[in-house]
Amino acid sequence: MTTYDPNNIFAKILRGELPCEKVYEDEHTFAFMDIMPRADGHVLVIPKNPSRNLLDADPQDLERAIATVQKLARAVKAGMNADGITLQQFNESAGGQVVFHLHFHILPRWEGVSLRPHTGAMAAKEDLQRHAQAIRAALK
Ligand code: AMP
Repeated sequence: MTTYDPNNIFAKILRGELPCEKVYEDEHTFAFMDIMPRADGHVLVIPKNPSRNLLDADPQDLERAIATVQKLARAVKAGMNADGITLQQFNESAGGQVVFHLHFHILPRWEGVSLRPHTGAMAAKEDLQRHAQAIRAALK
C-alpha cells in the first residue's frame, strides 16, 4: 500500500487514541519519546498533517517539521548532555520504515557510545518520563 493509512500508530497518538510521552507540540508539529529508544533521549518529530514519508509530504509540512527537528535537536543535546545528534528518517519498508506517518528520529550521541540495536524492547516508563522531563526543561 502506498496511500496514507489514517489508522497508523502515530495518527492514533496524534488523535489521542494511544498514549505517548510528549515533549513538544505546536500548531503543525508534535514530538514525543520513542518507546523503543536506540539511545536514552531518543525523540520522534512528526508533522500533524498526514503523509507516509518524505516522498509524499507537502513541502510546507517538511519546512515546519525540520524547524521543529532543529528545536528538538538542540533541546535533546542540551537536556541529555550529549556530544552530538544523529538524525534518521526512513522511507518505505525497503528504506527501513515501519510506521507509515512521516517522522524524524533525533538520537543523542556521546563520544565512543554506539546506538543500541533495535531489539523491540520497550523502555521503562519512568526512564522515558525522566528523559522527556530533561528535554522539556531544555526547551525553555
Ligand atoms: P521507523 O518507521 O523504522 O522509522 O521506526 C518507527 C519508530 O517508532 C521505532 O523507532 C519505534 O520504536 C517507534 N515506535 C513504535 N511505536 C511507538 C509508540 N507507540 N510510541 C512511540 N514510539 C513508537
